[in-house]
Amino acid sequence: MPGFHENVDVCVVGAGHAGCEAALACARLGLETVIFTVSVDSIALMPCNPNVGGSSKGHLVRELDALGGEMGKNIDKTFIQSKMLNVSKGPAVHSLRAQADKAEYSRSMRRVLENQEHLTIKQAEVCELLTEDVIDAFGRSKKKITGVRILTGGEYSCKAVVLCTGTYLNARCLCGEAITYTGPNGLMPATHLTDSLKSLGVAVRRFKTGTPARMDKRSIVFSKMEEQFGDERVVPFSFSTDPDDVQIDQVSCWLTYTNEKTHEIIRNNLDRSPIYAGIIEGTGPRYCPSIEDKVVKFADKDRHQVFIEPEGLYTNEMYVGGMSSSLPEDVQLAMYRTVPGLENCKIVRNAYAIEYDCIDPQQLFPSLEFKNIKGLFSGGQLNGSSGYEEAAAQGLVAGINAAMSILNKEPLIMDRSESYIGVLIDDLVTKENFEPYRMMTSRAEYRLLLRQDNADLRLRKHGYEVGLVSKEEYEKVCEKEKAIETEVSRLKSVRVGASKSVQDFMEAHGSTLLKTGFTLAELMCRPELDYHTLAPLDPDRPSLSADVIEQVEIEIKYEGYIERQRRQVEQFKKTEKKKIPDDINYNDIPSLRLEARQKLIKFHPISVGQASRISGVSPADISVLLVYLEHFQKTRS
Ligand SMILES: Cc1cc2nc3c(=O)[nH]c(=O)nc-3n(C[C@H](O)[C@H](O)[C@H](O)COP(=O)(O)OP(=O)(O)OC[C@H]3O[C@@H](n4cnc5c(N)ncnc54)[C@H](O)[C@@H]3O)c2cc1C
Repeated sequence: MPGFHENVDVCVVGAGHAGCEAALACARLGLETVIFTVSVDSIALMPCNPNVGGSSKGHLVRELDALGGEMGKNIDKTFIQSKMLNVSKGPAVHSLRAQADKAEYSRSMRRVLENQEHLTIKQAEVCELLTEDVIDAFGRSKKKITGVRILTGGEYSCKAVVLCTGTYLNARCLCGEAITYTGPNGLMPATHLTDSLKSLGVAVRRFKTGTPARMDKRSIVFSKMEEQFGDERVVPFSFSTDPDDVQIDQVSCWLTYTNEKTHEIIRNNLDRSPIYAGIIEGTGPRYCPSIEDKVVKFADKDRHQVFIEPEGLYTNEMYVGGMSSSLPEDVQLAMYRTVPGLENCKIVRNAYAIEYDCIDPQQLFPSLEFKNIKGLFSGGQLNGSSGYEEAAAQGLVAGINAAMSILNKEPLIMDRSESYIGVLIDDLVTKENFEPYRMMTSRAEYRLLLRQDNADLRLRKHGYEVGLVSKEEYEKVCEKEKAIETEVSRLKSVRVGASKSVQDFMEAHGSTLLKTGFTLAELMCRPELDYHTLAPLDPDRPSLSADVIEQVEIEIKYEGYIERQRRQVEQFKKTEKKKIPDDINYNDIPSLRLEARQKLIKFHPISVGQASRISGVSPADISVLLVYLEHFQKTRS
């Protein structure tokens, strides 16, 4: 089909949470970028839960913000309730979660995209990837991306493509026996690109996820539920947002529960569930189970939590969190109406499951570039993850690295000791995942260092070096770091004697009386004392901002644990820094076990550290590899 032709630097396929971050990153780095979507009205659509953040996901958003991404700023402008989760536990698992006004979130992100220099939005379905054959530096033939073709005939030549197609590739939606070949919310699916990927040798698989029904607020009896309030003092997601700008009147969410009647209806109709009737082919997320799965897999539980959450300020639609399903419509109505408060509920949108094509992310380098197709990058749900935050984080990294490849700069690769984003991407490209991957704090072995409160101290430098964070913002973090160090060493040097006034102070705070002098830092380690409480004993303290004080307190109260984890990271970095040459031939290493050889050839790890995390590669294989690399380097030098 004849069509027009355009030349640009980057094509981003998808304007979901991944695509928006990728496109903004490329355009903000000065590259002419086109972002494609099947519907411009669905930019940054939230087809499922109306919130951003939550346990470990809040960490991802803060890290993305520290690197210069947009999601944190966008939710700070469009949230309607905000809560810091897990505050009764240690700071490593404190995590921000905000309810979004979905429509406003999408509109606000669209405004940012529409006003971004070097960025063009195009409503069109990308149906084909255009490539040419090249020989790489080691004489190997490889594919190289040259552009994309859209269904309406147009062609875009470009130097890099970032795929962020989410849940749209060959999507089909299932609600009981009713099956529709649409994307989320009845939007058009993308039905051509999978064949193009397969023709380029890309391995594709089928995943699924599901969403609950939406109810009409007027049909809900909230007095039968527990009201859930936001925090009194809201903490913003973005380090660039002034905390005073986010202290708004917040809406409530509501907590209710399923019961035995709910479970009975579900059990009696499992034969009509596409999941249990075997109609659904795709693999679903273990950590976001449907209510059917919960009733079957946790049969001992007599009730499951159900969170009723507003979808926005200008709608009566309420999201029924915890009850996603693909049961038939009549069963849905019956089961929802057994839940206290929903006895007379009116369903605005049925719950449904969606199946879609995604890729096996082991085909990607940690830069999220395809190993066998130069200039093709991928981010988001297409990589087998699940969640807005996981998608946005990958989209940002894929976008940055597409830009770095065009600007001949080193890719941004963060390892597991630097960020949750590093853990997310390493788990996706190095480990075997057979279901949608959802981030959790337990996945991050160095989580005491990877807290959501210090994401700026850990990652602003990367953001500045790639060009997405301004010099001014970077210098602000350097000053913050300096202020923290100075205050920690001051508190470790200021001693408090056992005077009468000090003993009275200790008594007043239920703290053990002093037998000898203590430093302020030593006193701060007492659970009943903290930085603010000790103010009367520390008249010469400097005036510091709340975020500096927060860091000082954590550094002092958790010093032992933090130091131990820092030593573990030093060990980890030793093998992580040991790079494996790109042209290594594992068939040349005779003493390598067959399974390890096959896995190393398949994964093509970039470091010994990454190689050590591939299942089927044992520590003995790593020792063999290390010896071989020693010899290899010697013959090279
Ligand atoms: C029904 C449903 C239930 C979900 N449930 C959960 C859940 O319980 N928990 C959870 O964590 N996450 C859930 N999600 C997932 C969550 O929505 C996604 O993780 C997130 O939206 C992924 O973001 P993304 O940017 O990768 O893709 P998406 O947000 O899906 O965006 C994809 C974009 O790509 C565009 N596109 C696709 N193909 C083409 C093409 N060929 N040409 C042009 N444009 C194209 C689309 O128009 C869209 O703009 C659910 C999603 C759906 C649909």
